[in-house]
Amino acid sequence: MKFFFPDSQDLVDPSFDFRTETRSESRIRQRDDQYPHEIFAAPPYDGILVSKGIVDGTGGESSGRYTVAQRHRLLRVGVREFFRLGDIKLETMGDCGAFSYVREKRPPFSAREVIDFYIQCGFDYGLSVDHVILGYNAELDAALPGIEAVPEEWRERQQITFELAEEFMRLSQGQACRFTPVGIAQGWSPASYARAVEELQNLGYRYVAMGGMVPLKSHEILACLQKVKPILRPDVSVHLLGVTRLDRIEEFRRLGVVSFDSTSPLRQAFKDDKDNYYTAGRTYCALRVPQIEGNAKMRNRITAGEVNQTEARRLERGCIDALERFDQGECQAEEVVSALRAYELVHDGRTDRSATYAEILRDLPWRACPCEICRRLGIHVMMFRGAERNRRRGFHNLFVFYRRLREIFGPPGGRSQKGLTNVAR
Ligand SMILES: [Zn+2]
Repeated sequence: MKFFFPDSQDLVDPSFDFRTETRSESRIRQRDDQYPHEIFAAPPYDGILVSKGIVDGTGGESSGRYTVAQRHRLLRVGVREFFRLGDIKLETMGDCGAFSYVREKRPPFSAREVIDFYIQCGFDYGLSVDHVILGYNAELDAALPGIEAVPEEWRERQQITFELAEEFMRLSQGQACRFTPVGIAQGWSPASYARAVEELQNLGYRYVAMGGMVPLKSHEILACLQKVKPILRPDVSVHLLGVTRLDRIEEFRRLGVVSFDSTSPLRQAFKDDKDNYYTAGRTYCALRVPQIEGNAKMRNRITAGEVNQTEARRLERGCIDALERFDQGECQAEEVVSALRAYELVHDGRTDRSATYAEILRDLPWRACPCEICRRLGIHVMMFRGAERNRRRGFHNLFVFYRRLREIFGPPGGRSQKGLTNVAR
């Protein structure tokens, strides 16, 4: 089982000083900042997924992650040099990032444009152009008189996806593409997904990706895969787009899935309300010490006169000092919790996380983690504060996540990676 990490240019600056919160003046972002595979001794994923939507900045919350210069550089030097992969054994996959144009009537790219993008970047795998169907209803499989009950837009989007997959396969066969074409299946129910996979197999695809499943519940994903399994040819492999669910991953595997991608381990570090820090057995909340500068809500409260800026700054600094002293064994957990609480009343005012924080300071999860991030940062990895800490916590999560995956499936290059053929059996 391979895990592809979707890139959104979340790098960290190795010159960042956590004590003074300053950077090297000679830092050049593109040259000096580091990817997860440059931080850890072994990369915490098997491959990188790069979306044309993110590279081009065509809408979506991750758009604009690439500057024009970066985009040109990626196309000029190719994906391996751009990500500084060198001899690192990582595969590369390109896709369109269909969620970034999900609101459009049609995908903004042609099959031709996408193939040119894949060729220029030099990917190992290239996904066909697809259009996400914004809905799921398994009951439609039983409905009579059948297809008429399916919303027209859903059928249209599946049809668009078929046509683009057909064109994508034809064009990629027409020229010597070095990437393996991957056909994306879109559907609204188990039977419609199965039909999509069958169609892709008939078009010649030997690797299919299940798209649009991010919003689905695990039992719905399983229902679709179960319907697909009987029609899946022995030499066809399945990729799950954007789906994590480690608790179900062995079932996915039995149903033919050989690879998946997910941003969750990274993003939960700074997007989730409470599951910010992974460990093997559970997750922890991160200790919130927001920067006054970077926090729009707090700036507004300061401007409105609700919060005294000098006082807020004193409380903010007090939290960091207490946390650092705690990690050095120079102060008690109670003192840290009350410092965090005093600041929380200013920056949040609604939630009281004191009990949660006390638990974290009792369990000391970062001290038990062998990863490079936790070893180097200590308690700073637990602080919900600024991109340099938050992203590193995300990198740590990737480390924990990937280690768990390898525990389940064995080392890469072992039984989990016997090529893309026959693994579905
Ligand atoms: Zn760690």
